Amino acid sequence: MSVGLDPETLDLILDSIAEFAHRELPKSVLIDLDERDEFPADVIRKMCSSELAIQLLFIAEEYGGMGGGAFDIYRVCEHMAGIDVGVATAVLATSLGSDPITVGGTPMQKKQWMSRIADEGLLMAYGATEPEAGSDLGALKTVAVPVAQNGAVVGYRITGRKQWISNGGVADLYSILANAPGGPSWFVLDRDVDGFTHGTHEDKHGIRLSNTAALFLDNVAVDADRLVGGVEGQGLVQAQEVFGYTRLMVAAFGLGAGWAALDRAIPYSAERIQAGGPLSEKQGYTHKLIVPHATRLEASRAYLEETAEHIDGGEGRFNTEGAIAKYLATEAGNWAADAAIQALGGYGYTHEYLVEKIKRDVRITTIYEGTSEIMEMTIGRDRWQQHLKTSGRHYHEQAEVLEALHRSDPATGADVAALAHHALAEIMEACRLVRLTRNQHVLLRIGEWAAWTECAAALARRAARAAAGRLPAKGDRRFDASALAAMSRVFAREAALKVATEGLRWLYGGSPDVDPGLERRVRLADILAGQRGLIDDMDAVAAALYGRAA
Ligand SMILES: Cc1cc2nc3c(=O)[nH]c(=O)nc-3n(C[C@H](O)[C@H](O)[C@H](O)COP(=O)(O)OP(=O)(O)OC[C@H]3O[C@@H](n4cnc5c(N)ncnc54)[C@H](O)[C@@H]3O)c2cc1C
Repeated sequence: MSVGLDPETLDLILDSIAEFAHRELPKSVLIDLDERDEFPADVIRKMCSSELAIQLLFIAEEYGGMGGGAFDIYRVCEHMAGIDVGVATAVLATSLGSDPITVGGTPMQKKQWMSRIADEGLLMAYGATEPEAGSDLGALKTVAVPVAQNGAVVGYRITGRKQWISNGGVADLYSILANAPGGPSWFVLDRDVDGFTHGTHEDKHGIRLSNTAALFLDNVAVDADRLVGGVEGQGLVQAQEVFGYTRLMVAAFGLGAGWAALDRAIPYSAERIQAGGPLSEKQGYTHKLIVPHATRLEASRAYLEETAEHIDGGEGRFNTEGAIAKYLATEAGNWAADAAIQALGGYGYTHEYLVEKIKRDVRITTIYEGTSEIMEMTIGRDRWQQHLKTSGRHYHEQAEVLEALHRSDPATGADVAALAHHALAEIMEACRLVRLTRNQHVLLRIGEWAAWTECAAALARRAARAAAGRLPAKGDRRFDASALAAMSRVFAREAALKVATEGLRWLYGGSPDVDPGLERRVRLADILAGQRGLIDDMDAVAAALYGRAA
């Protein structure tokens, strides 16, 4: 059984967001707020009031919400980030802040807090990071000391400091991770409780419309019923529980911002005449600055949509898959925004054309909610386990499925995606034989190659689904089947070449004992032969992006 909104309701929400942004956050206002480094409190409050009520999306129906699923939240996050990643962060921080309650709260806590967030539009903040505990949350120093009466714990006194907290200076309600005697635990705090203060709005590189502030807790007294779930020591498990889902949200931010940047570069280049013709007709421009970025964004979308479907289908938590989606979508968004500055030349470097702001804004997505390196580690470790558990068959088996897809749908690039999978299996096995994952760098590179390889497979499947008219009802429909197939063939070639050449590079670079037969087993020659037709396919992608005949 799948959860979430029906497609018509989702469309209505997306339309309302677009209309609201058109009215309240036109380009001139965004540029002004960014320059003044200002959090638009009234706009964010309106978005969480009856006017737009975005918070209802992630609250269950039984607490007065709409019960949106991962797919709905991905679509909304992408649209919000396309407007402004800072605004998206401010609004979605409430979702993140309430996640510990959603996954770990007692029925009473859920009813009390989620109903208030739904009805009153309370803004929340998620207080996990500390000055010395970022990627390694286990190192947190904030403590929650129990207060006992007649032998029973009736409350806690919390002391510590939190760093870089979105909505930190403006939230009504905070979830705070603190070390209780039983281990890390979440507590829910009101903003005006004694001993609880916040720092000033941080002066940041980007997302300047989002308030980020440090939090200071000095012996803050809370009642025992503020301990989420009523049992100490569940905090990190509760945080883990929603990673699959929250990472998809940030992946969608990367996607939304990346496309927002390209969607400024594409029309610009159709109008801008240089050397006697529009830039959009110059291959050296499109095939460097536009096409590869559109293709990488769509590969990450394919993976994101599949993962959201799995989560909504109740098939599990999909934390590693969330990491893959976040990793590729945010890196692709960041590259796309950088390329968009280049694509607009000198104009791109000014505030007025917005792409430089998008570039500054999207940069955060590779840092918060787990940095790209932590994503590489998460993916690398998990897929390494899969490799060992299956005696090296994991990616070969995935490749066989893709080879079958290629037989039924030869246009989807599944054959080259299969080559990427075979190559990765061989590279991983060679790493095992020379014990190369003792080098952390190699393990993280495996995480990177796995992400590219799996996204290539997802895009090939997406192209096949589009050809069969079976794209998800709530999915993005920007590209038709033939454009998706061309994108898939372009991306699969890039992924296969990356895995094979970089894999060989780090093997030779890391060990004197690499078997010389490896290049043959990695099938480098086949992967190079698979590049045939690449420029024609890039031409086809450019044609789809510019709406011209291929
Ligand atoms: C604008 C903004 C908003 C934020 N919002 C929130 C929020 O609402 N709530 C919240 O709790 N936090 C929030 N954060 C914090 C964010 O999640 C952390 O900054 C992030 O997780 C990284 O932690 P760190 O800054 O301590 O960096 P570190 O963990 O010190 O990392 C520094 C660098 O080292 C790398 N690194 C770290 N560990 C390893 C390792 N083991 N191996 C290899 N490389 C490693 C990282 O990838 C990174 O490149 C926000 C941060 C910013 C900047």
